[in-house]
Amino acid sequence: MGKSSKDKRDRYYRLAKEQGWRARSAFKLLQIDEEFNLFENVKHCVDLCAAPGSWSQVLSRKLIKEGQEDPPKIVAVDLQAMAPLKGIIQIQGDITKQSTAEQIISHFDGQYADLVICDGAPDVTGLHDMDEYIQAQLLLAALNITTHVLRPGGTFVAKIFRGKDITLLYAQLKVFFTHVTCCKPRSSRNSSIESFIVCQDYQPPKDYVPNMSNPLLDFSYNSTNNNLEGSNRVIVPFLAAGDLSSFDSDQTYPLDDNNNYKPLEPVQSPISPPYKTAIKKKRTNELNKNN
Ligand code: SAM
Repeated sequence: MGKSSKDKRDRYYRLAKEQGWRARSAFKLLQIDEEFNLFENVKHCVDLCAAPGSWSQVLSRKLIKEGQEDPPKIVAVDLQAMAPLKGIIQIQGDITKQSTAEQIISHFDGQYADLVICDGAPDVTGLHDMDEYIQAQLLLAALNITTHVLRPGGTFVAKIFRGKDITLLYAQLKVFFTHVTCCKPRSSRNSSIESFIVCQDYQPPKDYVPNMSNPLLDFSYNSTNNNLEGSNRVIVPFLAAGDLSSFDSDQTYPLDDNNNYKPLEPVQSPISPPYKTAIKKKRTNELNKNN
């Protein structure tokens, strides 16, 4: 797909470049914030699975003010290297690894975060059960880290795939948070099973001791035993976020009525993309089967 057809097909893709966001995902966080006022009184924050960095840009633009005496602490983590962003502490690592969690926790040095956000997504395989499982593992890792760094009363926002096993996940998140809401921003395509879980008022059980080696959530059940009933079954509110006048991510828009359309360059190309080696090999014919 060419640049212009993507611009046309996906209005948020073009708008991100126009407004200087590194990815269209920025709009998802902004639209969730319109409903939940996520950034009020936030001084410390963790952005998990942050590359290429558009959510970190949102945090930076919303939280960092010129000449602030006591600037907020924002820690961003990803497997991929990320181009620097002003005021953001970056860690390159795997959030499912204890060593990465320890690095994040060490930056907080006894202080707590007010907000933890996680837009983590595995490379989608197209095998839905597998994709949902890996997504759930990322969420588990994010929640484990969250229980170490989030202050009581704090907020956790994470991407989820709303698959068939979602009711157990809701029930388990309700153990830690007073309010759990499933939110679909307008910039997230309807055709995608992606949604975001907004968990407010962190109140861990009294006897809960955060422990990186203990799984918090049990994803080991399957469709034959996931029929939670009675008080075990939690129905969480579902909210569509984003102004109705904002762009619909499933619609195709004309680019320019006067044919003045010019494709825009990406705001920040990946600095070390995993496909770099493959492109290099392709250019030098090293992928040729006869080699
Ligand atoms: N929120 C980002 C933004 O606005 O630019 C986009 C995040 S992108 C959808 C998903 C990210 O999850 C990828 O950059 C990927 O490297 C990261 N990721 C996937 N698995 C991870 C893991 N185990 N640890 C850390 N990051 C991971």
